[in-house]
Amino acid sequence: MTPRIAVVGGGMAGARFAERYGALGGPGTVTVYGAEPRAPYNRVLLADVLTGRYDAESIALPLGGAEARPGCEVMALDPAARTLALADGTVEPWDELVLATGSNPVLPPVRGLRRPDGPGLAEGVHTLRTLEDCGRLAEEAVTAKRAVVIGGGVLGVSAARALAALGVRTEIVHQGTHLIERQLDGEAAEVLRERLLALGVETYARNRARAVHGGDRADAVELANGYRLDCDLVVLACGTRPRTALAYGAGLPVGTGILVDDRLATAGPHVSAIGDCAEHRGTVHGLAGPAWEQADALARRLSGADPDARYTGSLQRARLSTGDLEYAAFGAVDETLDPGLDVLRIADATRGSYKKLVLRGTRLVGAILLGDLATVDALAGAFESKEPLGGHPLHLLTRGES
Ligand SMILES: Cc1cc2nc3c(=O)[nH]c(=O)nc-3n(C[C@H](O)[C@H](O)[C@H](O)COP(=O)(O)OP(=O)(O)OC[C@H]3O[C@@H](n4cnc5c(N)ncnc54)[C@H](O)[C@@H]3O)c2cc1C
Repeated sequence: MTPRIAVVGGGMAGARFAERYGALGGPGTVTVYGAEPRAPYNRVLLADVLTGRYDAESIALPLGGAEARPGCEVMALDPAARTLALADGTVEPWDELVLATGSNPVLPPVRGLRRPDGPGLAEGVHTLRTLEDCGRLAEEAVTAKRAVVIGGGVLGVSAARALAALGVRTEIVHQGTHLIERQLDGEAAEVLRERLLALGVETYARNRARAVHGGDRADAVELANGYRLDCDLVVLACGTRPRTALAYGAGLPVGTGILVDDRLATAGPHVSAIGDCAEHRGTVHGLAGPAWEQADALARRLSGADPDARYTGSLQRARLSTGDLEYAAFGAVDETLDPGLDVLRIADATRGSYKKLVLRGTRLVGAILLGDLATVDALAGAFESKEPLGGHPLHLLTRGES
């Protein structure tokens, strides 16, 4: 009998799995159940949809021969009976189940975020996770004059840059010491801050938002030091939390995410999990690259192309490319944490670029490129190969420069 593969979650991991499974000639039929009203799309490009650089259609993701079931939220799982239940009461059978439920935005402990009269966020307060969020934000940005983005990680920076490109004066309130501290060091973050400033985005690091004022409609954000930022829009960019309720309700072990082994299998027979919802070897990545690597490994295993396929983890690397603001970061970027590391650094204030290599002997263990990514492919290759570098490492920072 043809195996029936149900994928719960039509996001970046689910779509990638479906596409790869088809491309590898997997023998089963794949159905992708998605809670969102549209077929899978590339979420990483949402900020570019906000600026109008891409439209919703152009960021659609291929699904191979899989059937997409958008607008179909899976409400319950029965791993013993191998069925799932949809919101309309329909029960669907499966032989293999792939959980790819992603993550939800974290709502920070800030007073006044919610409507005073019921559930939901107050008018003018937004998250940016879906195309629907993006549509609502774009609509309000047309008339907005000032926005406050709470959170200065990669999402906050992307959102702020997009709002500034739409002509909205934008301020980032960030609790950490510097922007994107998971991926950038202090100097790179300073260059980024200046580049953002040139685009019309002010950053307040080491500052915490305490309250949103305005009642029904947000009109200001109050900081912990009492300072008040007037605004028409508030965007929450305070991280994400894996969506695990469905797995938990089905009795599958959940830590921060749904626990999986190197086969990306959960404790439930024939149930796997990939992407932002999965916790592998204690790590929930929350990034598109690892989500795709997990989807690829699982597709190899379930399609039969490589029944022993394993996922052993992802190299730490990140890339942001939105408009003319771009950076790439690999591995360990803070050499101060380990006295055995050496650093090679080039900062160019005029061009607004910053480049850094972190080396252990002749091996590259970390790098940052900001504002000039001419050598990014050579750098990525050197980082991934883990081999000793041939020649002077400077060529990884300056190739292609005049
Ligand atoms: C604006 C933005 C910018 C980003 N930029 C970057 C970046 O530059 N680099 C990077 O690496 N990462 C970036 N990310 C993160 C990246 O998008 C995620 O890591 C990636 O989308 C994870 O894929 P996923 O499939 O696990 O989750 P998602 O893409 O979130 O997909 C999960 C899907 O499952 C659906 N779902 C959940 N529960 C159910 C259910 N019960 N039934 C049916 N469907 C369900 C959800 O509705 C959702 O559509 C960004 C994210 C955002 C929002």
